[in-house]
Amino acid sequence: MKKILNYIDGVYTEPVSGQWLDNYNPSNGEVYCQIANSNSEDVANAYHAATKAFPAWSHTTIDERSRILLKIADLIEAKLDNLAAAESKDNGKPLLLAKAVDIPRASANFRFFGNAITQFASEAHESIGLNTMNYTLRQPIGVVGCISPWNLPLYLFTWKVAPAIAAGNCVVAKPSEVTPMTAYLLGEILTEAGLPPGVLNIVHGTGPSAGQAIVEHPEIKAISFTGGTATGASIARTAAPMFKKLSLELGGKNPNLIFADCDYEKMLAVTVKSSFANQGQICLCGSRIFVEEAIFPKFKNDFIKKVSQLKIGLPSESSTNIGALVSKSHLEKVESYIKIAEEEGGKILFGGKRINIPNAENGYYLQPTIIEVDDDQCRINQEEVFGPVVTIMPFKTEKEVLAMANGIKYGLSATLWTTNINRTMRLSKELEAGIVWVNTWLNRDLRTPFGGVKESGIGREGGFEVLKFFTEAKNVCIHY
Ligand code: NAD
Repeated sequence: MKKILNYIDGVYTEPVSGQWLDNYNPSNGEVYCQIANSNSEDVANAYHAATKAFPAWSHTTIDERSRILLKIADLIEAKLDNLAAAESKDNGKPLLLAKAVDIPRASANFRFFGNAITQFASEAHESIGLNTMNYTLRQPIGVVGCISPWNLPLYLFTWKVAPAIAAGNCVVAKPSEVTPMTAYLLGEILTEAGLPPGVLNIVHGTGPSAGQAIVEHPEIKAISFTGGTATGASIARTAAPMFKKLSLELGGKNPNLIFADCDYEKMLAVTVKSSFANQGQICLCGSRIFVEEAIFPKFKNDFIKKVSQLKIGLPSESSTNIGALVSKSHLEKVESYIKIAEEEGGKILFGGKRINIPNAENGYYLQPTIIEVDDDQCRINQEEVFGPVVTIMPFKTEKEVLAMANGIKYGLSATLWTTNINRTMRLSKELEAGIVWVNTWLNRDLRTPFGGVKESGIGREGGFEVLKFFTEAKNVCIHY
């Protein structure tokens, strides 16, 4: 059976641990390969390779670093079909989605940071009248750790490692053990692009084993993590007393605020996507839908109708809108929330049931699910489900919907549907979220800051923000 090996010092290697995990194909529930389950010794080896590579890489010219990153971007693009097929098989997402979004975006991440690093500059401050000049150096940190989740596997993995190496760091990175395949395939691309051995090391394995070993390693100076809020808290407990730099991109439970004055057809079409794209497994999906009373009955009918037309099927089929959930345990978690919603009085308007796909009876398929609630504080409205489940609820006033949108521990993104500019200005300022989309969703310019507030995380990725995270600012003060 195929084995997913670590990529350390530019070479694919078996784990020292000698341990392996099963890798499941969510579309049919079958084990189709084995994953290295690395331990602290594997992480120590990866660290050793990274620290050995650091002096040369941190002194490599910006032009050369940029050239290599752009080459990696080109190679990902050239292998789009293979990578998309691998991503779809590993994750259960529709192949067309992996082709249109995941893999192009992974390539774009390397291209963007390959270019951005050529424009990243430091500041100088002349203390006029004091014969003093200050300038700021932005120096790479050293060896940094990057840990990513399973929902957008290569997309989120590269969103971290590309800026980390562009800024001159060397990296020990761990993709999710649930979806390790495309990060594994990235290894050969790195070699082909001429990335020096040791600059980017990829270790596989579970969070408690490989992930914890990265976080605990005394010489890994910064941790960039994307995943669940509970895991983020556990990482912070380990890393904070070690004074590591930390970037935490965590969970969300994002509100959609839909006003009667919106562009209705556009709102409806986009809301179907923001609810169920990638089986609802995007941290930015809008899972709490608040609709102004005047259009609530119409929205309810139209939304159910549109959602009922989504085709659930094999990820490999081009007609599929909704593929499989990522794992059996995740499917069970999502189902348990549907049960909770029913128990607390939620009305299932559509979906809620598993689907049997012919010849893939053991796959993890679930209907897109719409639940009407009358209390925004109920559990289904407060806790992250991270699956194809949304709630809908009417509201009367702007003040009321703002209180409900903000009445939660999370604050990742919010989507506002209105054509009223004054309302847009007011609410955009008041919404407690790192990202506010107005009359659009998942519209991304990679230069913009990306991250959450409250329990959705600390720090910002994207653009120069992340290049600042992956460098230390040092002020040099010269008196003349
Ligand atoms: P998770 O927290 O279970 O795992 C994420 C990663 O952390 C995996 O690689 C895992 O192996 C590793 N990990 C687990 N325990 C660890 C530990 N103790 N030490 C170090 N590493 C550890 O999350 P998941 O289930 O893979 O992903 C789903 C979650 O990710 C959701 O909550 C979702 O909202 C969140 N997410 C957030 C963003 C964002 O940008 N804010 C983006 C995507 C996903």
